[in-house]
Amino acid sequence: MKRGSDVKVGFIGLGVMGLPMAANVVGAGHAVRAFARRDDVRVAARGRGIQIVDTVADAVNGADVVITVLTDGPAVLEVALGTDGVLAAIDSAAVYVDMSTISPNEWAEVAAAFTDRGVDAIDAPVSGGEQGAIEGALSIMAGGDAAALERVASVLASMGTVTHVGGAGAGQVVKAANQLVVAGTIQLVAEALVVLERGGVDLGKALDVLGRGLAGSTVIQRKRDALLSRDYRPGFRLELHAKDLGIVADAARSGKLSLPLTAAVTQLVNASVAGGKGALDHSALYELALEANGLVGDPAAGEVAMSGRRS
Ligand code: NAD
Repeated sequence: MKRGSDVKVGFIGLGVMGLPMAANVVGAGHAVRAFARRDDVRVAARGRGIQIVDTVADAVNGADVVITVLTDGPAVLEVALGTDGVLAAIDSAAVYVDMSTISPNEWAEVAAAFTDRGVDAIDAPVSGGEQGAIEGALSIMAGGDAAALERVASVLASMGTVTHVGGAGAGQVVKAANQLVVAGTIQLVAEALVVLERGGVDLGKALDVLGRGLAGSTVIQRKRDALLSRDYRPGFRLELHAKDLGIVADAARSGKLSLPLTAAVTQLVNASVAGGKGALDHSALYELALEANGLVGDPAAGEVAMSGRRS
């Protein structure tokens, strides 16, 4: 694989995660050509040195590496395998890297189609949230051929730290495990805040001291201020987390696994989405915990919570 600005990267999916990720690829000296559907996103992308093109095929043609960061499995199947999609336009010497979170089964379908055409494909979902994407500090869990991964190492390194976790689909299996840990941790922190509030303790001081001990976590570090101000602007939308916990549920069903805490938090995430909170950050699990305990807080804070505006 070529180095620096010699590497041509095609990028599709400039959402909450994709835009800062693509900007970091540009920042590392690579040339990025991207397709985005929304006008405001196109403008923002151009401002970050990303060349915007009109079709997926235009982004893919001539690229050494093609990256997708899309909403879910159906979106990846459409963009990767659909008419005028990635597979139809990609150079056989290029590597396709999907960094979305989709099910291992959906990825198996995509990977098989690329393998049939003799094109290397890597599943490389990420963890670290919007902040990690902005800082180029994502944890990237990659599945697929080691030599193909090596060829895209310099591009992926511009977005975070890569760990090769196994063959095709292994990245998505690790990401599913990641998502159950994150949802469960947010729920427990939310329940801890309910206990603390009922106990009349200063919530900020309590989270700080919890964060320095064994109860500490990246969730507490990254979500502390948003939780305290009940600012649920995404971030990571609850509806996306519901999608990810559906992937875990599929794995539990097919593997005949017993995952009782995962099942409980999945119900709470689903209840939040059904209750109209799907577009809020997953830290809005706290809001459900407050409601369940009659701790709806002050109305001004509630308005901030539901609109996603910062206080
Ligand atoms: P997002 O909804 O902000 O962005 C998704 C992007 O995909 C949008 O720009 C959308 O226009 C585009 N897209 C969807 N379908 C498309 C299609 N058919 N053709 C072209 N473009 C299409 O979502 P996000 O928060 O950036 O998340 C992207 C992926 O990363 C998801 O799979 C999510 O689960 C995962 N993820 C998100 C976070 C986070 O904190 N937001 C963290 C880790 C992983």
